[in-house]
Amino acid sequence: MDFLFKLPNGSFFVLLSLLVVGFTSSKASPPLIVENATIIPVDGSGEYIASGYLLVDDEGKVQAVGMGEPSMELGPEVMRIDGSGKIIMPGFLSGHSHLYQSPFRGLGVHHTLLGWIYCYHMSYGPFYDPSDLYWFSKHGAMDYLGHGITTIYDWTLNNSETVDDYVDLYRGSLDSGARIIFGFGSDMGKSLDENRTYLKEYLSIIEDEGMDASHPRVPAVWMAGLGLLNGRERATMEFTLAREFDLPMQVHYLEEPDPTYVAIQRGLFPVYDDLEMMGPNLNFAHFINVTDEILQRTGESKTTMIWNPLSNGRLASGLPDIPHYQEFGIEVGMGIDGQASADISDPFENMRMGMYAIRMKYQNADVMMPLDVLRMHTIGTARTLGIEDQVGSLEVGKWADFIIVDPRSMETSPVINPIEHVVLTCSVANLESVYVGGEKVVDDGIFLKVDQEAVQHEVTWRLDRIQEQVDDSLEAETWDRGTVLPGLDEYQQNHFSDDHEHPRYGKAREED
Ligand SMILES: [Zn+2]
Repeated sequence: MDFLFKLPNGSFFVLLSLLVVGFTSSKASPPLIVENATIIPVDGSGEYIASGYLLVDDEGKVQAVGMGEPSMELGPEVMRIDGSGKIIMPGFLSGHSHLYQSPFRGLGVHHTLLGWIYCYHMSYGPFYDPSDLYWFSKHGAMDYLGHGITTIYDWTLNNSETVDDYVDLYRGSLDSGARIIFGFGSDMGKSLDENRTYLKEYLSIIEDEGMDASHPRVPAVWMAGLGLLNGRERATMEFTLAREFDLPMQVHYLEEPDPTYVAIQRGLFPVYDDLEMMGPNLNFAHFINVTDEILQRTGESKTTMIWNPLSNGRLASGLPDIPHYQEFGIEVGMGIDGQASADISDPFENMRMGMYAIRMKYQNADVMMPLDVLRMHTIGTARTLGIEDQVGSLEVGKWADFIIVDPRSMETSPVINPIEHVVLTCSVANLESVYVGGEKVVDDGIFLKVDQEAVQHEVTWRLDRIQEQVDDSLEAETWDRGTVLPGLDEYQQNHFSDDHEHPRYGKAREED
């Protein structure tokens, strides 16, 4: 439970969290069984179970999954859920996310990545209050859970003065009830030594608070890197920290489509090998405008990637040729990316967007099937994050992270083939409930572990405050957004304009 105190001057809130924060990996809930359900386990078989059961033990793990009725005797303590007419499947994973971006949707729509950074990060970012990010990341994680995503790699923003403020991002996302891999970002304004001290303190706080930070458990801490986006110097610092602290690392790589930028980024590719980072502990987010040489080295080194179709479409970043990547043996997971660039956190939309784009490109339906893209957004993503033995499919011994989909509405029934049906027709409107570790966290759109109204209230007034600050600074002409990509100053100027928003958008009608 969170307690808020408004200071007498009303200017800000102090947040105290009295709970031991962190996702408890064992739970005291009763065991449960979902019966008479259609089950898509997303195991290696590629099959679904037309009518079967999912049995969850009192630790929150899958005890059995099978056809018909379970053979074992069930005690009276087992909670029974009737799954008739419903589809049970693993919760989705998002392998690349920025949860704190949740309140900032629909911005910079006339720009690709670097211009969008100007319209969003550089415009709104300067006005974050340290206490905002707890609420924003909690809101973001709830939004994901409400769309059926149960495990999230959260690439976070480190602009916090104190380490404790930064840990608040983690606290916020974990308090939603989702499984979180926290992507720790170094601070470019600090030296390597300062970042090292900061990271050490960060890890000791989350250890003290009982958040298990060791990979490959989830929750876990990874490094979150800008990689070569900021050039070699920043990348070197990030990689040095990742190696010293033995943290796997995800970096943004080859997202912006501008040819000049692409050429710079491709040219820097050997730096990953120079720094001995290529391998299963490195993951590329986006990874769009590649060459075959880059794919070759990525595949053979077992470096993985996360594909973000919604965000890549919205930002006009481009379409990675996924079937071609897979020919090089590259493991591909999927992500939503931040809500400020995907705008909607819907894995169903994300799967369709990706699969349809690939089919359009190839003019061949066979090239990507519904089961392929479903795997990528579940077990495939778990594999890229090295947690496939814990989550990503409904198999004995894994966490019982699952969703109940009810396709029986007018526009999504009847069902002929459940796998195709889920991927091609269903949406969040069909999402009946979401379970994490056998515990129900969302029921018909209601969040069971969170005071939803409080979160919405907090996020709304905080965004209003930020918007007012943005408007005031525009009016006072004190607008100075500086630069965010050292080393690319000249290039980035071409992508930024003084127009806060495109003239065609974002104008409220004014009275005559
Ligand atoms: Zn990103």
